[in-house]
Amino acid sequence: MVRTAGPQLTEAIRDSQQRFVFPCCAPYYREPLVLVRGSGVFVEDAEGRRYLDAFSGILTTSVGHCHPDVVERVRAQVGTLGHTSTLYLTEPIVEAARRLSGIAPGRLTKCYFTNSGTEALETAIMTARMYTGRTEIIALRHAYHGRTHLATEVTAQAGWRPLASQIAGIKHARAPYCYRSEYAGRCDDEAADAFARDIEEVILTTTNGQPAAFLAETILGVGGYVVPPPGYFQRAAEIIRRYGGVFICDEVQAGFGRTGTKWFGIEHWDVEPDIMFTAKGIANGFPVGATIATPEIADAWHGKTISTFGGNPVAMTAVVATLDVMSREDTPARSAARGIQLRRGLDALAQQYPWIGDVRGMGLMQAMEIVEDPETKTPDAQRAKAVLEAAKAEGLLVGLAGLFGNVVRIAPSMLITQDETAEVVERLGKACQAAHLP
Ligand code: PMP
Repeated sequence: MVRTAGPQLTEAIRDSQQRFVFPCCAPYYREPLVLVRGSGVFVEDAEGRRYLDAFSGILTTSVGHCHPDVVERVRAQVGTLGHTSTLYLTEPIVEAARRLSGIAPGRLTKCYFTNSGTEALETAIMTARMYTGRTEIIALRHAYHGRTHLATEVTAQAGWRPLASQIAGIKHARAPYCYRSEYAGRCDDEAADAFARDIEEVILTTTNGQPAAFLAETILGVGGYVVPPPGYFQRAAEIIRRYGGVFICDEVQAGFGRTGTKWFGIEHWDVEPDIMFTAKGIANGFPVGATIATPEIADAWHGKTISTFGGNPVAMTAVVATLDVMSREDTPARSAARGIQLRRGLDALAQQYPWIGDVRGMGLMQAMEIVEDPETKTPDAQRAKAVLEAAKAEGLLVGLAGLFGNVVRIAPSMLITQDETAEVVERLGKACQAAHLP
């Protein structure tokens, strides 16, 4: 392979990707971007072009690329003790667990570490089933929870479910998606009540009435940053508990201050989950999944289990270092402040372009849903893709989402500055202008 930077390196990497990597591992863009380094909110490609990264590796580089504190501590740990397995105790794993339980809501104090959000989900569902002695799970339509056999079946978007259903005991309730419902324009208490009542209806009409759990992302991420109406989760938690099940909350995208003012998204609804899981932003890019439960639920796990890499000292050091930076910099407060600024910019763009049908999100987790016409709301995936490509040409990285691929996601590092946020809005404005032209 050619090693020097430049177009040849770009071509060599694209060529190897096509020859040696599963095609389902598909990169963004007509001409996939080859990245070679990153710092803060910026990344650089193999030809020396710099991009403002407003998608942060899918909401993962929570405190910016190569944050010096995280790099330094990880580097030191790699050179001291790189791997042990959980057959031995290390300080990083217990410290990561202690720190996480310190910020997790309510009585969530016991952690199990894995390597991804998907594994964290699997752990959550298995734990709920063992604790309740039941099997049926109610998830939400439009949800995304991961890529394994079980995770794709609790996921509820056809495109992310490559196989026909084969696992019994999974049911889906209506997504609290106000924009695409009769509650459009009024995401209110009545909407919350109607969406929550559907959970009860699903329990009563599609299960034996004894569900193990209700599972939900606090903000539907891959679903397109769908924010449930106020009061929804209070009702949902009450319903699942009334039927003897537990509430599992997926904070893979919404955790660690991302939604502003709170450490975890669910805290905005004043609900304490029974089991919560997270990943992505927890370790600023190191592969970590974490499942957190109340002691009695965690204690219910029976039988042997082990994750060779889960709780790896290097990954756990990255967790502790990232949590240190997030606490010191107060990511919940920063997301709230920069989120208001970003949202103001997106709302202004929506005033300008009628094809921005909806702007929604919380904190630094904001999205624009692109439609052909604001009345019909016909999804316009082509224009969303055009925005993505045009943003790249402006030196800005954003993401796509939504059942129809028509939602543009913006979620930069939570340490983004005021000037950098203004730059995101300006470049996105230019991208919208370019995508507006026929
Ligand atoms: N839950 C949510 C809400 C996610 O967004 C994702 C990843 N996009 C997952 C779970 C799965 O995480 P991972 O890709 O780390 O397995």
